[in-house]
Amino acid sequence: MSQNILDTKIEFLKGVGPQRADILKTELQIFKFGDLLQHYPFRYVDKTKFHTIKGLVADNYAVQLKGVLRRLDSVGSGRGRRLVGRFRDETGTIELVWFKGVTWIEKKLVVGVQYVVYGKPTLYKGRLNITHPEVEPATTANTEHALTLEPVYHSTGKLENKGLDSRGIMKVQRILQNKLRDAPIAENLPTYFLEKFKFPARKKALTDIHFPGSTALLATAQNRLKFEELFFLQLKLLSLKTKRQTALKGHVFSQVGEYFNSFYKEKLPFELTDAQKRVIKEIRRDMGSGAQMNRLLQGDVGSGKTIVGLMCMLIAMDNGFQCCLMAPTEILAQQHYESISESVEGLGIQVAFLSGSVKGKKRKQLLEVLANGDIHILIGTHALIEDWVVYKNLGLAIIDEQHRFGVAQRASLWKKGIGAPPHILVMTATPIPRTLAMTLYGDLDISVIDELPPGRKDIVTLHKTENGRLRVFGFMKEEIAKGRQVYVVYPLIEESESEQLADLNNLMEGYESLSRDFPKPDYQISVVHGRMKAKDKDFEMQRFVKGETQIMIATTVIEVGVNVPNASVMVIENTERFGLSQLHQLRGRVGRGAEQSYCILMSSFKLSKDGKKRIETMCRTNNGFEISEVDMELRGPGNIQGTEQSGMVDFHIANLATDGRILQTAREIATRVLEDDPKLEKPHHSPLRRYLEKDKKYLTTWGRIS
Ligand code: ADP
Ligand code: MG
Repeated sequence: MSQNILDTKIEFLKGVGPQRADILKTELQIFKFGDLLQHYPFRYVDKTKFHTIKGLVADNYAVQLKGVLRRLDSVGSGRGRRLVGRFRDETGTIELVWFKGVTWIEKKLVVGVQYVVYGKPTLYKGRLNITHPEVEPATTANTEHALTLEPVYHSTGKLENKGLDSRGIMKVQRILQNKLRDAPIAENLPTYFLEKFKFPARKKALTDIHFPGSTALLATAQNRLKFEELFFLQLKLLSLKTKRQTALKGHVFSQVGEYFNSFYKEKLPFELTDAQKRVIKEIRRDMGSGAQMNRLLQGDVGSGKTIVGLMCMLIAMDNGFQCCLMAPTEILAQQHYESISESVEGLGIQVAFLSGSVKGKKRKQLLEVLANGDIHILIGTHALIEDWVVYKNLGLAIIDEQHRFGVAQRASLWKKGIGAPPHILVMTATPIPRTLAMTLYGDLDISVIDELPPGRKDIVTLHKTENGRLRVFGFMKEEIAKGRQVYVVYPLIEESESEQLADLNNLMEGYESLSRDFPKPDYQISVVHGRMKAKDKDFEMQRFVKGETQIMIATTVIEVGVNVPNASVMVIENTERFGLSQLHQLRGRVGRGAEQSYCILMSSFKLSKDGKKRIETMCRTNNGFEISEVDMELRGPGNIQGTEQSGMVDFHIANLATDGRILQTAREIATRVLEDDPKLEKPHHSPLRRYLEKDKKYLTTWGRIS
């Protein structure tokens, strides 16, 4: 086939031209016909029929009416001025009300003229009215012909200035559809898919998605296009994974030996949960398979991921290999270092610590023993993957709290292996929704710890406003009197200098007020914030860890991983400013000991809808997986921790928050296709192969990730 029409440059579309084309490119990344075709409506306005005023009820959906404007009155004055219209059809009369754009509406509308009105009837003081309806003069076009589901498109201020508001975009979409009417658009799914799922042909779906003839046609078009989008992504991810597994040999850890067994018998301080046992088995099987492992370990805060990581390292050592454990902050790395050194004491295992702060002679010595194999486990920060760090034989690399690590770092670990890349285990800080995991880490295998160690008491979470502050302080005193410790956390948004200062002031004011209510020498308070030198931060943190201070006031620096089992109360200030997963992560800092723990969410009295939902969710559940789902619903998949800027969840039509079932099917089908035909060579898969081959750019981007 010659030049594909969908590759035609957008400026060549009638009604676009060079100027609009430039804006379309910069604002919406629309370069070609095909891009415009994939700029799908984000909702539809139901103009398929006219309702009668008599039959209206206050309901959740908008209706279309046809009638005459009988009156238009200006009521009130100044900022309180509004416009009230009386609108009548053959069956009755209804009020139309405007609070905004009053002057403009007043000029535009003419009493006695026939209009088509579109809006949502609501009940006000016992009567139905429509606030801010869409109003258009009635014409044959909008009353007799094009009774449709009208597409609504995303636009921007700049586009609107060029006449490309939603309506304007709709017009060029129409022109494009006419242009495509007789052009071939290649099918990209095998015929047997279309039959199995009753999907419309690609071309039909691409028409119906813009100008659906009915809600049923729209639904089938959406279903097909969502599937298509998710399916091709899964196909790419899974074929990458298969390729890697066949092309790359991994170290074979065939045995469980002395280290593992003696740790298990003599050192393990508790019985593992069934979930931990299952996950260790999964990892063991991977590391013994001959292929290189790339596994994501998901588990809620406190579910015991660290011990799982440690036991996997013991298996690696039993097979003569070195391991490393990388954490995102110095404090967390240090804590891992101390707790792991302690747990393996007496087993003849050499554990070492490395970060940017290990310098000079100390570093030189460390690197020597690392290179000759005398160190078994190296724990540290990003420093572990620097070029100057050379292992003798790195067999397993564990990355804790993944979201701080970019894909690039994951890749640079690969080079550290000799002969074969090390096995890689990535542990998440907080759970992410299943659909997101399948997408972001779709080329990894996933293990889930879905069970907390026994005997944990659920953290009691309460919401308080300023009125309750004294009671909260009283409660803190009671807990401190029992020998417990308390966190008080302030938000820190790292946007601008001035905001940072405002946040810092907040924290310092909080500190002063607390110092008055919790005076020395009875109470000692630690303060930690981002403006402090690392050394001072560390010092303050250590005082709290050792129990020398009872209260720790901090910005979110304590969010990641710090473990102080004696802390039983977490007070969060300005809760409404935190994201859900952040709140969950913070709450996870308490409830680590045997005592009943509490999380107190302080907020202002007035809350936004989302703020309220976040706080309600926190009070309702301790389950991190559940919380991550709500988080994704509220903020959209692109804003969930770890996905920022990844571009991997920017779908044209699919939505990870709502299309979980389609995604599940897409992944299953992609798996089956690749099992049956790994290279997509069979004739009935040629639409898939052709479509993927066109998408080379996409594939190379993905290639770099692994
Ligand atoms: P996370 O998954 O958040 O990293 P950790 O690995 O830090 O959780 O574990 C939290 C706490 O639970 C630690 O103090 C750890 O010793 C303890 N723990 C882990 N597994 C068990 C278990 N099976 N039984 C009892 N306590 C456990
Ligand atoms: Mg952890």
